[in-house]
Amino acid sequence: MADSKQLYQEVILDHNRKPRNWGVLADATHKADGHNPLCGDRIRLTLKLRDDVVDAINVQGESCAICKASASMMTMAVKGKSRGDAEQLVQEFRDLAIGKLDATGPGHLGRLTVFAGVRDLPTRVKCAILPWHTLHAALNSVASTTTEADADPMHAPIGGGA
Ligand code: ZN
Repeated sequence: MADSKQLYQEVILDHNRKPRNWGVLADATHKADGHNPLCGDRIRLTLKLRDDVVDAINVQGESCAICKASASMMTMAVKGKSRGDAEQLVQEFRDLAIGKLDATGPGHLGRLTVFAGVRDLPTRVKCAILPWHTLHAALNSVASTTTEADADPMHAPIGGGA
């Protein structure tokens, strides 16, 4: 456990110093704003889909370290993926963060499994999930999302709707 905790801290620090794909795409086809009132995280996600593949994705905003690192790693993970594969990653990350998915089990998260540690930190779970929830919103053309109330990623069904 000591090793995974150390890796987690190194990854978070690295992505905070040098967040990948940071900024706003001028030619985005999809975008959404995400807000986590519990912590104060606010992010804007812009992405460009081409032939149903994530051609480019950027995130920008004001957020805590966990949210920023999660967003940075998410952009790396979904870039070049199909919309369906991106949605599957959203589902897997969510399951990982809330403890439904074992980090050592099958899945496509790769290095993102370092976030398995947040399941023991209930107040940070929403910070880690916010970028993914915002990606899900953008892919479904929902302009803004929040971790609270009906849109709470812990309760709202992924791919849900009527
Ligand atoms: Zn946060």
